[in-house]
Amino acid sequence: MSSSQLASRLSDARRVLVFTGAGISTASGIPDFRGPQGLWKKWRPVYYDDFMTSREARIRHWDYKLAGWHQFRDAKPNPAHRALVELDGMGRLEVLVTQNIDGLHQLAGHSEDRVIELHGTNRKIECQTCGQLFDPSPIFEEFEGTREPPLCRCEGFLKPATISFGQAMPHEKLREAFSAASRAELVLAIGSTLEVEPAASVPRSAKEGGAVYIIVNQGPTAQDQLADLRIEGDATTVLPAALGELQKLIRR
Ligand SMILES: [Zn+2]
Repeated sequence: MSSSQLASRLSDARRVLVFTGAGISTASGIPDFRGPQGLWKKWRPVYYDDFMTSREARIRHWDYKLAGWHQFRDAKPNPAHRALVELDGMGRLEVLVTQNIDGLHQLAGHSEDRVIELHGTNRKIECQTCGQLFDPSPIFEEFEGTREPPLCRCEGFLKPATISFGQAMPHEKLREAFSAASRAELVLAIGSTLEVEPAASVPRSAKEGGAVYIIVNQGPTAQDQLADLRIEGDATTVLPAALGELQKLIRR
């Protein structure tokens, strides 16, 4: 069975890079933005330059974020997130790199410094001028009431701390992710179609550097041909089963 194969590969590797995408969080009620029901189908994305120069664009972006906010706020980690915390507890996780903005890995129990969020997070609001971070709830409530795009104390524009279209990726985080990829013995990509760049280059660079490459996803991915092991299935069943088997293997 595929979870046994995954457990066996994991038991051989001390430094595992885990890379996650939207598919790991759909069971937590987070919509896949690129999927058929995704918000992107209903909302025209706001580009970063427009956000910074147009009040109308700022309102549009805040409306879009407000539409998904309750789902994000109320989402809970699922068994796949918790299985990765167990992997970390076994001392095998080098680092976890995620495309997700839902913060569910940290809520499941990973410390902040074990998770690299390449596309930012919906769980914080960031001032675009001074960089200060804020708790989202009161700011969303304020916007809902006033319909005024929120401002920082420094007068800078506040924006959910996710990477917008046309906004530069965080260089330091990308550098950390590629550095971890270069050290990895095994790379495990979960719930990602591996199409969005530069994020998808992180697992590919680990494979190119000699790591064993395992992909767990429902449906094909852009990197299936690179995988040493390709598991078709739901991460919420595959990962807990594999971690259970890994614990047995290690105890032997
Ligand atoms: Zn500020």
